[in-house]
Amino acid sequence: MTPLRLHNTMSGKVEQFVPLEAGHVRMYTCGPTVHDYSHIGNFRTFLFEDLLRRVLLQQGYRVTQVMNLTDVEDRIIKKSAEHGQTIDEFTEQYIEAFFQDLDTLRIQRAEHYPRATQHIFEMVSLIERLTENRHTYVADGSTYFRISSFPRYGALAHLDVSGLKAGARVDVDEYGKDDPRDFVLWKARKPGEQSWETPLGAGRPGWHIECSAMSMQYLGEQLDIHAGGVDLIFPHHEDEIAQSEGATGKTFARYWLHAEHLQDATGEKMSKRLRNFSTVRDLLAEGYTPRAIRYALLTGAHYRSPLAFSTELLKAADSAVKRLDEFAVRLGSVGDAEAPAEIRDRWDESLRDDLNLPAAVGHLFEFIKAFNPRLESGKATAEERAGAMAMLRHANRILDVIEFPEAVDAEVEKLIAERQTARDRRDFARADEIRQQLLGMGIQLDDTREGTRWKRIR
Ligand code: AMP
Ligand code: ZN
Repeated sequence: MTPLRLHNTMSGKVEQFVPLEAGHVRMYTCGPTVHDYSHIGNFRTFLFEDLLRRVLLQQGYRVTQVMNLTDVEDRIIKKSAEHGQTIDEFTEQYIEAFFQDLDTLRIQRAEHYPRATQHIFEMVSLIERLTENRHTYVADGSTYFRISSFPRYGALAHLDVSGLKAGARVDVDEYGKDDPRDFVLWKARKPGEQSWETPLGAGRPGWHIECSAMSMQYLGEQLDIHAGGVDLIFPHHEDEIAQSEGATGKTFARYWLHAEHLQDATGEKMSKRLRNFSTVRDLLAEGYTPRAIRYALLTGAHYRSPLAFSTELLKAADSAVKRLDEFAVRLGSVGDAEAPAEIRDRWDESLRDDLNLPAAVGHLFEFIKAFNPRLESGKATAEERAGAMAMLRHANRILDVIEFPEAVDAEVEKLIAERQTARDRRDFARADEIRQQLLGMGIQLDDTREGTRWKRIR
């Protein structure tokens, strides 16, 4: 068996993955900024992290994953003030929506979701450590990281910062790659802004310090994997490295993984700023299923390639998911078996090759295509069908989009029971609604003297 290989942005190469502690992976994934609903571009990155997590688990590792919730930064401060709300009041609705969307897309939960506002003092202590190590200075009441004090600055983004003007500094949370300057760790209070009283003065943290402080608190001073979208490489992750390593003197993260962007149909990055985004909620309202959205974002392209979002992509995903469902139905109820080694190895090997899910899915559909004629002609033995089913289940531990017949059966039985209760209390409107819902699932009901029977009509 080949080992797991992952692309490391730091080296620019695909490397064999070896965690610091045998059998245990410590992983930090930058989470959403909860100033609004996350869009499906954000979810492309979160789904890539779900893929990474599931592959690590399938490789037999224990995983401790942290995803922060950025609930204090420029836009949040501005928007909550505009709404006359505290930060907590304003962000609550979006935090709740974020967790709902995670469930909709069947993204596995991380072990910890720390919030920035609940870790202000950990950030302050980290800044104090940086000050002891002579990496900071104060100007106009704000504390800055002096990047000339950290010679490795720019290593992740492969930047040349030698021509940098010393003392030039930046106060905003987001800025461009062509503008590396001393960045803010602690921002002095501005009138009308929510602030915290701390030994650094009244103010609030800059955006970058939260991830260094919280990763250290939950995962220790050194991580195995740090992940996010490519837009975070600079400045966010570069700044995280400076803050963490400037304080500890140790390598912060060993593997840096970055997902490419989801783009709109014209090739622009999907973003709030450009208003070219859709949310998960928008797509559900348009009638797309959660499974189609998950499948499209996960398998539409390898995570290191940009993916153009379109209705064709969603429609193709929808029909791929249906093909997988149908294959499961056709295999019928079969006993336990092992997946055939050849297809299983191809699938696993693709995933171990820097999480190449599109290739893995390609192999799976080839397998299905070759198997179907055997099913149709009745030549497939019970054992072969059981093997194919085992493969489908194996693939679904990563894909998580297939509805297996027995799961559908359970859902149908539940709805039929609910319909019976509605009829017993003479709520015929509800009973009829359930009949319609089942029809939508391709299930037809037949009320007989012995009770309600059902059959598939697709
Ligand atoms: P944010 O909520 O803006 O802090 O972003 C959350 C995550 O989504 C980060 O890892 C970003 O890198 C990622 N992200 C933002 N825009 C996109 C996009 N268009 N495609 C893929 N990932 C994105
Ligand atoms: Zn971060």
